[in-house]
Amino acid sequence: MPTPSTNRLALSYELFPPRSMAAGNLWTTIRELESTAPDYVSVTYGANGGNHDTALTLLSELVGRTTLRPLAHLTCVGGTRNSLRRTVTDLLDLGVRGVLALRGDIPDGYVPPDGAVDHAVDLIELIRDVERGNAAQLAAGRIAVGAAAYPTRHPESATWQQDIEVLAAKQAAGADFAITQVFFDASRYAALVRRARDAGVTIPIIPGILPMTSLRRVRTLARLAGIDPPARLCRRLAHAGSEADARRIGVDATVGLLRAALDVGAPGLHLYTFNQHSSALAVLDALNLPARNGAPTESEIA
Ligand code: FAD
Repeated sequence: MPTPSTNRLALSYELFPPRSMAAGNLWTTIRELESTAPDYVSVTYGANGGNHDTALTLLSELVGRTTLRPLAHLTCVGGTRNSLRRTVTDLLDLGVRGVLALRGDIPDGYVPPDGAVDHAVDLIELIRDVERGNAAQLAAGRIAVGAAAYPTRHPESATWQQDIEVLAAKQAAGADFAITQVFFDASRYAALVRRARDAGVTIPIIPGILPMTSLRRVRTLARLAGIDPPARLCRRLAHAGSEADARRIGVDATVGLLRAALDVGAPGLHLYTFNQHSSALAVLDALNLPARNGAPTESEIA
């Protein structure tokens, strides 16, 4: 878990923990996503641990009620070494075996607590340390640890070289794979992968893709990522005559982006769903992936 070791494309989705497990059509979404046999489904985690309990509840439901493999996002900002060790142990107790190790965005006026864990790379080391302490529970298994990567420079990084050095440090600390921040231009993804490979980064770098069917979401995610939204697409979405038109425009644009990423060697795709399956599945249908017939076998899972 979670990237197949064969050349079969990895598929994953991102969910966020709703306030209530009965929210809207969460379970319809989960079941629809499950029917596509993804390699894993990730669950976001608020910076500062804002949604700690709801995230763990959703993860526990995914483990207990579905065949899905959950990947728990975990942010270290606001946490301490002790609190983060406890959370990783709690995740293991729930049966979670995949963690996406992140720093989280720094809130305004943030004062790190005593024992703070400053960066994702430190969190990866901490997770590997907890893993060593729980070797008996994990038996022969291990925790699949993922990290963030940035096709467009992280807003706090002085240069793209810094991003690549940090990604290499994440690999050295024990990251098994990376998922990218959202991007709207496949040449950015291609450049990230090329630079990472030149710097000795060998882990899979999976493109994080937003189904671009909603103008509001495109703008929101671009703002959160600190990048410009795609102007031409935004204009087309703004002038779409109906929701169906917007969906067609957005699905076409997303498929174009994904094909371009796959053409430059993307090992899979990670779809940001906003807890709605329809756009994600429309993208998958239109993409018509050849090798996604059924769940991966155990031997395919690294
Ligand atoms: P870091 O790797 O710590 O990097 C942050 C900044 O510090 C960068 O500028 C980096 O160059 C610099 N840096 C890193 N290490 C060092 C070091 N040792 N010394 C000096 N500088 C250093 N946020 C959430 O709150 N919840 C989520 O669930 C979530 N999910 C995400 C999923 C994906 C796939 C991605 C790409 C991002 C996600 N984020 C999430 C956003 C993420 O938390 C932010 O992008 C955050 O600002 C940086 O996180 P990071 O893990 O890359 O941090």
